[in-house]
Amino acid sequence: MIKENGKGLLIVISGPSGTGKGTICKRLLDEISNIKLSISMTSRKPRGQEINGVDYYFVTKDEFENRINNNEFLEYAIVYSGQYYGTPKSKIEEDLNNGTSVILEIDIQGALKVKEIVKDAIFIFIMPPSMKILKERLMNRKTESEEKVMERFKTAYKELNEFKKYNYVVVNDILDEAVDKVKSIILSERCRVDRIEDIYLDTPEEEIHEELMEKNFNNSNVEI
Ligand code: ADP
Ligand code: 5GP
Repeated sequence: MIKENGKGLLIVISGPSGTGKGTICKRLLDEISNIKLSISMTSRKPRGQEINGVDYYFVTKDEFENRINNNEFLEYAIVYSGQYYGTPKSKIEEDLNNGTSVILEIDIQGALKVKEIVKDAIFIFIMPPSMKILKERLMNRKTESEEKVMERFKTAYKELNEFKKYNYVVVNDILDEAVDKVKSIILSERCRVDRIEDIYLDTPEEEIHEELMEKNFNNSNVEI
């Protein structure tokens, strides 16, 4: 009945470090069909259990810079402690053209660059319930040293002011509720009228029915 344009959505999720982006994105992959998380490239070292090609593509600074020169990134930014983080573009174009939606979990500088390039991307800002809770989450995660936690926490104050540049803001207080909200945004965006190219009738019976409807409509016009 409906012919959609067949293109996946590009969904950009950002917000301060520790606000719960990664946790929410993992749930989205389990709960929404036909969606992928883009794997970023970074010059930072793997931490904990992180796996190359799963969590990130880990490369040296030199290799990252070579790839910048080869124009391989949709966006890239220098984020914490002078490390590069970037979104490789080749796979994303392929996925979107095949109808798969792609999530970019990237920092705010990167999100604003994507906004300039991809006009129909969807931008979702994940907000912590309070700065106190954000600090607790960063510390309890135990993935960074105390010094690095403080660097991320200070940056968070600046980043919060950018929320107005996004299309949606979701507060991640109760995890299930935050996941439901982000999920609803994505599912609603998939129903937007501008994604529909055409409507068509499936069977000859439906076409006959439409003709009858038109006749009735014309007759009722005459009576009026
Ligand atoms: P980000 O990807 O934004 O840096 P994470 O997803 O790693 O953040 O979450 C930071 C920490 O907070 C993790 O330890 C995670 O388990 C926890 N967390 C995420 N969302 C919630 C929530 N709604 N309630 C309590 N803890 C949460
Ligand atoms: P982490 O070191 O905690 O994995 O990530 C640090 C920050 O880098 C997070 O805010 C994360 O969203 C961001 N980030 C991860 N991948 C990319 C990317 O490809 N581009 C940009 N601009 N930021 C990214």
